[in-house]
Amino acid sequence: MLPILLLALASAPARADAPMPDPAAAARFAQGENCMELAAVDPAAARERVRQLQPGAKPDLALHLRICDGYAEERAGRNEQALVQYEAAVSEARTRSLQRLLALALALRGEQNGLRGLYAAAISDLKEAYQLELEVGTPARQVYALGAIANLYADRNVKDYDNALAHYRKVLAANEAAGNVQGQATDLFNIGSTLESQGKLDEALQYLQRALELDRKRGVNEDIAFDEKAVAVVLSKLGRHEDALRLLGDVERRYGKDAAPDDLAAFRLSRGVALKRAGRYAQALPDIDAARAFFLSQNNLRFLETIHDERAQVLAALGDWREAFNARGDYQVVRQKLQDQLLDERTTRLRVLFDSEQKQRQNEVLARENELAQRELRSAESARHWQLAALLLALGGIGALALLMSRQVKLARTMRELALTDELTRLPNRRHFLALAEAALAHAQQSGGTLAMAGLDIDFFKKVNDTYGHAAGDVLLQRVAHALRQAIRPSDTVGRMGGEEFSALLRDAAPDQAREIAERMRAAVQALDCSDIAPDLKPTISIGLSQLSARGDRLDSLCKRADDALYRAKENGRNRVES
Ligand code: GH3
Ligand code: MG
Ligand code: MG
Repeated sequence: MLPILLLALASAPARADAPMPDPAAAARFAQGENCMELAAVDPAAARERVRQLQPGAKPDLALHLRICDGYAEERAGRNEQALVQYEAAVSEARTRSLQRLLALALALRGEQNGLRGLYAAAISDLKEAYQLELEVGTPARQVYALGAIANLYADRNVKDYDNALAHYRKVLAANEAAGNVQGQATDLFNIGSTLESQGKLDEALQYLQRALELDRKRGVNEDIAFDEKAVAVVLSKLGRHEDALRLLGDVERRYGKDAAPDDLAAFRLSRGVALKRAGRYAQALPDIDAARAFFLSQNNLRFLETIHDERAQVLAALGDWREAFNARGDYQVVRQKLQDQLLDERTTRLRVLFDSEQKQRQNEVLARENELAQRELRSAESARHWQLAALLLALGGIGALALLMSRQVKLARTMRELALTDELTRLPNRRHFLALAEAALAHAQQSGGTLAMAGLDIDFFKKVNDTYGHAAGDVLLQRVAHALRQAIRPSDTVGRMGGEEFSALLRDAAPDQAREIAERMRAAVQALDCSDIAPDLKPTISIGLSQLSARGDRLDSLCKRADDALYRAKENGRNRVES
């Protein structure tokens, strides 16, 4: 088994199959002594092996070792470092046209992007990986890539369930053809979970039961318990309470004494909810409380959201109004936190990107429909069925066209938003920032108010790139952008001017106040904890300030003076503010 590709992507249908065996690849990388496999179980040992083998390794092997090093970092929980390696591996594999390794690196990077909520990037990596696998890979790896794409579509933040199902079904067909029973069970399970997410409970039940049947034949206790729990949850949702509880009893016996604490806690939550649905509130409470204790200790918000909600319902049903009220409060707090997380601009922006990709697809469909209507129209014309032609035009062509146009407007709006925003940092880009600055300048001049401009530049940023890689530099840029945004007032604007240079527009800020805000930005960057990117990475930033002066002051002059001050800040030792 070569545990190359990922699969932890799914968070809705959370069952990840073991990676597929790939004897050809294993043989090919025998020199690397199955580094990926080792990395999966013992990351530290794998990294040691990489260090031993790397000197003098041929380009193919060296690149494979680099990917393996990244995978070891990932397995050890250091995702940032893993990403740095994957980025480097992707560009090297591309340059050298090492297609198989490119497919591997892309798939791993795609998974990382998926985990970060960068869905558009993830899907494009995975699709490219799949294409490459079609050209140079084994069927097993093709299927694997398809499964990863399906999992991404099924992600709770993407929720493109129809696409997910279409991909899972392809994977299932391939696994049936290959006689891979474990794979089939996984696919059936994932299809069932996706249908459940769509609220198609009867269909979901059928698939989950088929998965359970197969796993019972395979006889792997852990997998059976997993399936049984899922079946029980759907049964309970369908109102078949006694069946559900009976099955959950089986699960508990199967777990026995040595279940993993997180499995057990999730199980007790499922049973608590099933008992609640059955109206057995007094029995439900201890289960839900046990789950609550565990997930509080883990600070797992996703589970806690459900738990507080269910607990509030159970307590209310039991007449314990005060505790029910408290639980409802806990629920609101967790929900808000989750929403804040979701609204994190990165996720939002990429959601937008992903949606616009989907809209693009819909547009294509509509355009085709429209073309079809037009063609029917033409044939109708030639048959001189004028009335029919008019009808078709009114019902089909124009309708589709109108829809198409309204979608185009929405798409254009999305695109416009994207055009104003810097990809990496989600800050206003140079163009947008300068437009905002022009407006602020005009307003200040009209109202006789004050206005300050800050030019900011990260110190020794080139060294960061050179030492830790470009990807690490990118992450640092994001962190700095976030810190700057936190440090300014709501009425201020910070934008990315390019590279590692930012500007801030401080509205209604007199010199003293501007200096105070600039100092706050400087301190915020200095206070950044970047030890997860690299242990000794301690970024600082230099800032130059300028102030709107005489009546005829212009934006380019304001910027120029900020730049000059920034130059002095660099000259005078960096990590400082000059005006
Ligand atoms: P100083 O403190 O004096 O400004 O030195 P510096 O190294 O920070 O400044 P310099 O202008 O020499 O280097 C800036 C570097 O920023 C060079 C360029 O490769 C890098 N860079 C520009 N844009 C990006 C980007 O989007 N991502 C990353 N990772 N690096 C970038
Ligand atoms: Mg610079
Ligand atoms: Mg710099």
